[in-house]
Amino acid sequence: MMKKNILCIDDVDTNLFTLQSVIEYMAEDKYNVLIAISALEGLKILLKEKIDLILLDVMMPEIDGFECAKIIKSNKKTKDIPIIFVTANNDDQTIETCYNVGGDDYINKPYNPTELLSRMHFHLKSREQDKLIMKEKEYTRSILDSQDNLVLVTDGSLDLTVNNAFLEFFSVTSIEEFSLKHNYLSHTFSEEEGYFSLALVKEQITWTEEVMKRSIEEDLLVKIKQDKKEYIFNLKAKSFSDQYIITLTDITQISQLSLEYKHEASHDSLTQIYNRHMFNRLIDMKMTQAKENANPLVFLLLDIDFFKAVNDNHGHLVGDDILKHLSRLIQSHTRENDLFARWGGEEFVLAFDVDLSKGLEIANHLREYIEKEPFSIAKNITCSFGITQFQENDTLDSMILRADKALYQAKGNGRNQVCHA
Ligand code: GH3
Ligand code: MG
Ligand code: MG
Repeated sequence: MMKKNILCIDDVDTNLFTLQSVIEYMAEDKYNVLIAISALEGLKILLKEKIDLILLDVMMPEIDGFECAKIIKSNKKTKDIPIIFVTANNDDQTIETCYNVGGDDYINKPYNPTELLSRMHFHLKSREQDKLIMKEKEYTRSILDSQDNLVLVTDGSLDLTVNNAFLEFFSVTSIEEFSLKHNYLSHTFSEEEGYFSLALVKEQITWTEEVMKRSIEEDLLVKIKQDKKEYIFNLKAKSFSDQYIITLTDITQISQLSLEYKHEASHDSLTQIYNRHMFNRLIDMKMTQAKENANPLVFLLLDIDFFKAVNDNHGHLVGDDILKHLSRLIQSHTRENDLFARWGGEEFVLAFDVDLSKGLEIANHLREYIEKEPFSIAKNITCSFGITQFQENDTLDSMILRADKALYQAKGNGRNQVCHA
């Protein structure tokens, strides 16, 4: 154990001598005693040496003990050093002032040496404990600050502390500034389908409890708008005693990517309408619904007439543009429940929840719209249609087969027409 440095300040040198002898006699192995004959001398020593505790006389000429204590407590370097006043006065006024000027304790002269040492021991120990708690706090803080995730500690109604990443994200310098700007973290969550927000919290419980409950079963996402940008975070809550640690992991980029992949997997890259894969999935659902609810469903195959000639005469790029243009045109004439997709090449598929006669009507309208549409090339574009109605025992293949037959017939009959099978 390192010896502790005790600074004794008193204007009477016999007092100093007595203090020094008492302490060294009783605990020489624990304490080094430094002495100062005036407040000024004591302050000088404090600036040079590492002092662990101060025994301070009250009545001294020039700077008295109270003044001296005030100076010590107002200096960042010395403010945490415990001060025990050693005074002959024990009137209420003196005792009160001892504490008011920042003293930690006082002891009356003449003192009982054992009591003096016990008090010294007590204050040194509690100072050590304070230091330990401070260290632990700094340690926790450094762990929090080393995280890229935004971290918030809250008791559910009051936000207590946050890490650096949190402050940086919200462009604030302290949690107080954050509270002024946004009130609570939970108030920054956008109310949007698929995202967690305050709107989902039942009145009787705090939002943190709701997060705890929900995150057992699902990954919670929140959307936060900041600096005109939208960020998506994965939200997690952990509880300890009566507090919660809330962690927000930025997944904006990942969710953007996954949205793009989802789009790519289900859409045709040229025309941006559904691809065959997506159509197969959706028509499956439509067929099941049609069977269960006994509602009508028609299936159409559409093929551009003489498209090879368009490519041959105008080039592939013009051909591509016409495929895009045609897709937009047909899309603009379909409704929410209709299915429309690129089947492959210059063939498209459509499905409508209507019976055959209505289906024929729709197909003929489409055929006319296409025929009349001014495409980029001089010659009109026309399409042939094969249409069939869903029957109870149909599979997708059996339906395609019939529609294909009808389409073949439309081509054979001179194109730019709708045939059914
Ligand atoms: P029909 O009236 O009998 O359908 O004649 P067609 O020329 O349209 O039929 P065919 O099957 O002989 O030719 C289809 C053409 O469609 C051939 C191919 O070059 C073209 N095609 C298929 N996919 C694309 C594409 O993505 N872009 C372009 N530019 N052309 C395509
Ligand atoms: Mg074809
Ligand atoms: Mg064709």
